[in-house]
Amino acid sequence: MLIIADSLASAALPQAHQPEIMTVAGPVHAGAIGNTLTHEHILVDFIGAEQINPNRWQQEEVIAKVLPHLKEVKDAGCRTFIDCTPNYLGRDVVLLRRLAELSGLNIITNTGYYGGSDHKYLPAHAFTETAQALAARWVGEWKEGIDGTTVRPGFIKISVNPAALSEISKKLIRAAALTHLQTGLTIASHTGPAVPALEQIALLRSEGVDASAFIWVHAQNETDLTYYISAAQAGAWVSLDGLSDNNVADYTRRLSFLRDEKWLSQTLVSHDAGWYDPGKPGGGNVRGYTTLFKKLIPALAQQGFTADEIEQLVRRNPQNAFTTRVRAAKN
Ligand SMILES: [Zn+2]
Repeated sequence: MLIIADSLASAALPQAHQPEIMTVAGPVHAGAIGNTLTHEHILVDFIGAEQINPNRWQQEEVIAKVLPHLKEVKDAGCRTFIDCTPNYLGRDVVLLRRLAELSGLNIITNTGYYGGSDHKYLPAHAFTETAQALAARWVGEWKEGIDGTTVRPGFIKISVNPAALSEISKKLIRAAALTHLQTGLTIASHTGPAVPALEQIALLRSEGVDASAFIWVHAQNETDLTYYISAAQAGAWVSLDGLSDNNVADYTRRLSFLRDEKWLSQTLVSHDAGWYDPGKPGGGNVRGYTTLFKKLIPALAQQGFTADEIEQLVRRNPQNAFTTRVRAAKN
C-alpha cells in the first residue's frame, strides 16, 4: 500500500508505475517527500563490527534525546530525513521506524557497508566474500526487509578512504553497482576529496551504472571546486553535507559557485548532524538539524538565490536523487 507523506498530496490518486522513494514506513510518492535533509544521523556507534549490537543502547533513551531535535526540524519545514548510518555502525531500523511515527517525518534508511576509516567498520565476511555475494546480501534487504523486519532500504550507503581506491573499496563499489542494477537504489558514498570520487564514477560506469546514480558524499572536503564541475558533468550528485552554524558563509560560497556554473540541479546540502553515541555517557551531545532552514536559506536568499533555486536544492534535488529507478550507463 502506498503511504502519502504529506496530507496535502493525498488528493492525488496513486497511479501505476509512479516514481517512489522507500522510507522506513514503506514507499512514498517521490513528489510528496517535501523538504529533505539528505545526510543526517540518529545514532552512530563506533564500537566496531565485531562487538556492535542493539543491546548497547536503550531505545527509550535515544528517543528522549533525539526526538526533540526531529520535532524541531519538522517545525522548521523539513518533511523527510535521510539517515546515513550504515549496518555495523548502529543502523537500528526498529528505532528509526518508531522515530518516524513519533516525529511525523519520513525517515529513510540504507543498505551497504562502510569501507572508510581504513575498513575498521567492515564485518569479517566483507573481506572474504565476492562482490556478487555482498550484493546478494544487500539485494536481500531490499527484497525481504532488514534484520527480520518489513523495513526496506531507500538507498545504498558505502564509504571509501579519502585516497585512491583500495582493492576492498573497489569490491564494495562493484557490490553497490550490482545492487543498484537489481534494485534501482541510489548509491551514496562517503568519500571526501575528488580523487576517489572520480575513480568511483569511472568504476561504476565500467560496471554499467550511470553517474546519475552516484552521490559524492562529503564533497565539501575538496578544496578545488573545479572538481565539482568534473563530477557534475559526468552526471554525479555533489553533496555538501557538513553544514553547521560555523560554516554557513563557506557553504554559501560553494553553493553560489555551483549555481553560477549552472550545476545547482545536481547539488545536495545537509548537516551530517546528530547523533546519539552509545559509547558516550548519556549518548553525548546531539547536534541539531536546523541550520539549513534557519541560517543557510536566509543567507542564500541574501546572495540572490531565488525561491525556486532554494526549492530545487531542498526539495526537488533530493526527490530526483533518491527516486528509485535503475540508471544504466549510456555507452
Ligand atoms: Zn555521515
